[in-house]
Amino acid sequence: MQNKSWTVLGVLDWGTIYFNQKGVRNPRFSIEWLLSHVLKVKRLDLYLLFERPLHSTELKLLRAMVQRRAKHEPLQYITGKVDFFGIELTVASGVLIPRPETEELVEYILASHDKDTPKRLVDIGTGSGCIALAIKKERPKWEVWATDISELALHVAQKNQKELGLQVHWFQDDIFAPELLRHYPELKQSCDILVSNPPYILRDEWNALEREVREFEPELALFCSSTNRMYSALIKQSKALLKPLQSQMYFEVHENYADEVQYLSKEHGFTAEIRLDLAGNDRFVICTHNQS
Ligand code: GLN
Repeated sequence: MQNKSWTVLGVLDWGTIYFNQKGVRNPRFSIEWLLSHVLKVKRLDLYLLFERPLHSTELKLLRAMVQRRAKHEPLQYITGKVDFFGIELTVASGVLIPRPETEELVEYILASHDKDTPKRLVDIGTGSGCIALAIKKERPKWEVWATDISELALHVAQKNQKELGLQVHWFQDDIFAPELLRHYPELKQSCDILVSNPPYILRDEWNALEREVREFEPELALFCSSTNRMYSALIKQSKALLKPLQSQMYFEVHENYADEVQYLSKEHGFTAEIRLDLAGNDRFVICTHNQS
């Protein structure tokens, strides 16, 4: 990007070619996303501003962002923002970028539970806080708890809570050695819903992941050694936290292991159904606890 006078259209065309050369996915979309962030306008509104010249401060900001994107860094880390279920969240490297599938998981929870009845929900492995915060926003009467093993993730989640003015209880915890109940015994068998989008990618899939994910997103939030081990731990924690009757677990799962998670849940006395995501993959397992 040379020091000449640039217009919006000039930058869009140049950026598309440049990102294409660098093998960046969605080159046009990428430059639109970055430029709209720099100019603080909606992406589609750039098309009304084609002739607008860019000032040197804007160009300087954009140049730095373009360099990061050329190395395949996710757009959400570069701008630090992501939209999730109608709320704007801050994300930072070290925290998983919320995915559209996870919005579908939120939708499943909301569809089965009305606004008026107060519920207690726990989100395990909350990351940026996306599920917990989206639910709290839509269901203000609910008491929402959220845990994550990563201090950085909880820091980002708390920042998001502050920006959104929502109240969620956060707790640093390990799925494989949970301490939540020891610290808050009142939660014992008192929760209505447990939701989790845990790390479910297997290590041997590393090569098949996009560079954006593989090189930039936190391993801790992506990978597990075995889905059986991961979901068994979550189900065990559910049984300690959930009310014995009519409580529910909502899991996001690896599309190849939905059957396994369904089977595990049934073994533990839940009825369990697999649901597809919008791409048609087996992505969610929704379970109801019916044992007395
Ligand atoms: N769903 C994420 C992905 O496809 C993975 C995050 C997770 O393991 N929950 O990259």
